[in-house]
Amino acid sequence: MIKIEHLVKNYGNLSAVDDVSFEIEAGEIVGLLGPNGAGKSTMMNILTGYLSATSGVVEIGGHSVLDEPLKAKKLVGYLPEQPPLYPDMTVDEYLNFTYELKGCTLNREKHLSEVCDVVKIADVRGRLIGHLSKGYRQRVGIAQALVGNPKVIIFDEPTVGLDPKQIIEIRNLIRTLGKDHTVILSTHILGEVQAVCDRILIVNKGRLVANEQAENLAHAVQAGRRLSIKICGQKAEVLTALKEIPGVVYAEVLAERDGDAYAYLVECKAGADIRKNLFFTMAARGWAIVGLEALGMSLEDIFITIVDTTSKPTRPSAKRRGKEITAGTKGAIEKELASEMLRKTSENLESK
Ligand code: ADP
Repeated sequence: MIKIEHLVKNYGNLSAVDDVSFEIEAGEIVGLLGPNGAGKSTMMNILTGYLSATSGVVEIGGHSVLDEPLKAKKLVGYLPEQPPLYPDMTVDEYLNFTYELKGCTLNREKHLSEVCDVVKIADVRGRLIGHLSKGYRQRVGIAQALVGNPKVIIFDEPTVGLDPKQIIEIRNLIRTLGKDHTVILSTHILGEVQAVCDRILIVNKGRLVANEQAENLAHAVQAGRRLSIKICGQKAEVLTALKEIPGVVYAEVLAERDGDAYAYLVECKAGADIRKNLFFTMAARGWAIVGLEALGMSLEDIFITIVDTTSKPTRPSAKRRGKEITAGTKGAIEKELASEMLRKTSENLESK
């Protein structure tokens, strides 16, 4: 449904989009994720025909956005970050205005009523847009994107500024729309893509750095597995034994205790499964394993790994990464990742 090949957009010396290629099939809900300044809005604006590309191919439903802009644009509904709403119009006036602007030929009353029902604004059709809550205004913005029944809907940061209840409602609405539309959701909120999307595209500094089904992302970053293991035994000896198990790249004792067991954080090489070896090594020494938990990788963790790898010439070694996660528990790891995210976001904002 959407094909982008070798897309480039330069602003002077800055490459806002740098040789990006991907395809999106009909009916997919795809998240476009990246830190601020990554190039997401630029890509959305090129896809929707608001901006021209420096070079590359952009096709929607087989129509080139450059050569057949009207045919391509008819297939796309767009909710920009700042929806183009007129506060002095009623919802009804605004939707009728949008209907005419788009040159829509569907039965007007029936179509607009259906759109209002889908986004649940039928009860406010007679009200001034300026008098509506932010959540309702966002729904009106989505309604204008749906006028003309486009096959593709593009949302740019659709939940920014909404309260938690409104966020859940808008995400549910996006999921519902995804049942019979192709949806692109551009966001910097990781939880949003996790909640809504089938596939995730990650952009960083204008480049596409990941294009994976959500569940495959961890493989994409060649993530090593992290385990939290509780073992009864003399801790220095247990630690030495853990480090000697083939596939283990890092191990440390955590502060946590469980009766006479100590907790250990163990990092393994990508693809290594140490469980059997771990069992027999510990059993041979008479040390009981009383807990084993795969810490996994949160989307935050994967995102930071990808952004790190694609931003810096080198990345910290597994050992160093292990050392940084001294608290070892999931909560502490997530806290560290969250503060790293905040630091990165503010760095990006400063550099903007
Ligand atoms: P995102 O939507 O991911 O935050 P943008 O697409 O808005 O990123 O911006 C990508 C890069 O292009 C940023 O470095 C931004 O400063 C730059 N940029 C965006 N629009 C313009 C413009 N009109 N002129 C110059 N630089 C721009």
